[in-house]
Amino acid sequence: MLRLRGAGRTFPGPPEVRALAGVDLDVAPGGFLAIVGPSGGGKSTLLNVVGLLERPDSGRYAVNGIPVADLDDDGLARCRSDTFSFVFQGFHLLDRRPVLDSVGLGLLYRGVPRAERDARARDALERLGIGVLAAQPAHLLSGGERQRVAIARALATGSPVVLADEPTGNLDSGNAERVVDALEGLVGEGTTVVLVTHSPEVAARADRRIRLRDGRVVETEGDRADVADHAPASVASPPGRASTLRVRDLIVDAAGSLAARRGRTAGLLLAVAVAVGLAVGSSGVATSARAQVSATFDAHANRDVTAQWTPGEASVAQEATDLAGRLRELPGVEEASIVDDEGPHAIGAIAGRPRLTIPVFRADAALPAAALLTLEGGRPAPSDGALVGANLAGQLGVQLGPGSVVLLDGVQVEVTGVIARSPRWPELLGSVVLLDPDRVVDLGRTPPVRRIAVIAAGPGAAQQIAGQVPFVIDPVRPEAIEVFAPVDPGTLRGEVESDVFATLLAFTAVAALASTLGLANAMTVAVLERQAELGLRRAVGARRRHIAALILTEAVMVGCVGGIVGLLGGTLVILAITILNRWAPVLEPLTAPLALVGGVVVGALGGAVAAVRASRIQPAQALRL
Ligand code: ADP
Ligand code: MG
Repeated sequence: MLRLRGAGRTFPGPPEVRALAGVDLDVAPGGFLAIVGPSGGGKSTLLNVVGLLERPDSGRYAVNGIPVADLDDDGLARCRSDTFSFVFQGFHLLDRRPVLDSVGLGLLYRGVPRAERDARARDALERLGIGVLAAQPAHLLSGGERQRVAIARALATGSPVVLADEPTGNLDSGNAERVVDALEGLVGEGTTVVLVTHSPEVAARADRRIRLRDGRVVETEGDRADVADHAPASVASPPGRASTLRVRDLIVDAAGSLAARRGRTAGLLLAVAVAVGLAVGSSGVATSARAQVSATFDAHANRDVTAQWTPGEASVAQEATDLAGRLRELPGVEEASIVDDEGPHAIGAIAGRPRLTIPVFRADAALPAAALLTLEGGRPAPSDGALVGANLAGQLGVQLGPGSVVLLDGVQVEVTGVIARSPRWPELLGSVVLLDPDRVVDLGRTPPVRRIAVIAAGPGAAQQIAGQVPFVIDPVRPEAIEVFAPVDPGTLRGEVESDVFATLLAFTAVAALASTLGLANAMTVAVLERQAELGLRRAVGARRRHIAALILTEAVMVGCVGGIVGLLGGTLVILAITILNRWAPVLEPLTAPLALVGGVVVGALGGAVAAVRASRIQPAQALRL
């Protein structure tokens, strides 16, 4: 059923090595064939070619009449899964996982359900006298036990052909004996065994021998008639479907694989968790801080609107009164006052010196309310007379208060109040404000230098009022009116929020990128470490995409769990920081699914790189010692 004609295989070097140089070989069903010869003679290469782990680069090879040259990669995997089981000199098993998993591996890639897989695996182990090993972690087994586990895999899978490459090469004679006994047992049940060996005693137990030297068959020995004795009446084919993997098995296998390498898995998990935790923590802290800032904005919400312009000549007094009335009627205006800047004037206390030159303003009685002035002694605002700034009162060197008289350009004016605080318009602390809208006190300057509308707006109304004021003041030339209004707290908050959001987004992107690259790198390193294990999976019939799926599934699981751990860690960080700052923590419910999705995406992207790398592993090379 295996027919090799003129098979050659050259390794391109340098130096170029011709490992097989035209080998003809027929292997009929049943029987025990030994391949012997010096080291480097091409025995392993021949076995790999026979087992479809590599292709010959010249000559022809047919398995059960199907030319191998016609098969693509998946076709080879299917044919391997249907036909061959391997026992390697290197004792390859799924380390740190129960022996049962290694025995059932061939059936795993035939889509056989777990219960049946385990039953067949236990049965095979029992028949080889190592049933007690079923639950042992494979890495604790001795070499002899490992080889018998590999033979149990062939038995459990029901492979028609077993290819064993120096299975006793690293064993003492007692263990070697047991392994050959087990192989002979397989032969007795109709399995075809092809065995590479250095040992003449082992070779002597085969019913056919070929000797390879320099890639050529130099000697053939054995009675073909013997083979017929072993030929089974009918070879039962393995259960399940060739080279098939169930999704459920894939997930359980990936989980087992992760659990088998706890240290590495923890490291990968941490890489994802730190990135997700950073993103969750920083966004949560930022959101909490933002809520805090917003509350502060609202508390300090600025509500002042000021407009100024140069007034015309005509009836300035009447115009000011009308204007103040119209401004007060605007929606959202709480108080409005028209102030005239009368320019600098000389002021003195009644007794004479010193005289100072200070700014003088003229306003109506609504100014203290509109400009939020506080008068000394908390007095209510007067309706006439002069308000004197507190700083000015000090500079004049006399005690000024209601009832005092000051000389303004030589004109006596009664002081009716002292401005103690003027946060909105600090200049007033060094000025005199005449509450004289009808311009009774003549300061020789008509019209005033400029006219100022001081408006106290209701909460949230400042921007809207600022837009309307120029049209109220001068519908003909509204552009001549200079308006000052605080930035709307809502707009300001929006700007701050979008800044914070952009920073967070950049930060999260960098963290995610770093974690993806870290994961990709760590997983690729892990794949290189697991080359032999992944090669073994290919040898028992896994396709490239099965290997890629395994690595990707592991990575996505890591991403998923890392996302959850990161979410918890990040939430703790939010709570810790907000509690330390005495803020109210803001936990967005949307963060949880986002963290999970983020972890999965990081896992998938990072894993994809390693998965591609893993799927490219050449099983023959990965499994060589
Ligand atoms: P044996 O198993 O009889 O010792 P091998 O089949 O392993 O011999 O090797 C035959 C020759 O091919 C040796 O010279 C070996 O170095 C060479 N060889 C085997 N595999 C490779 C490879 N992947 N790349 C390069 N040379 C190889
Ligand atoms: Mg070899």
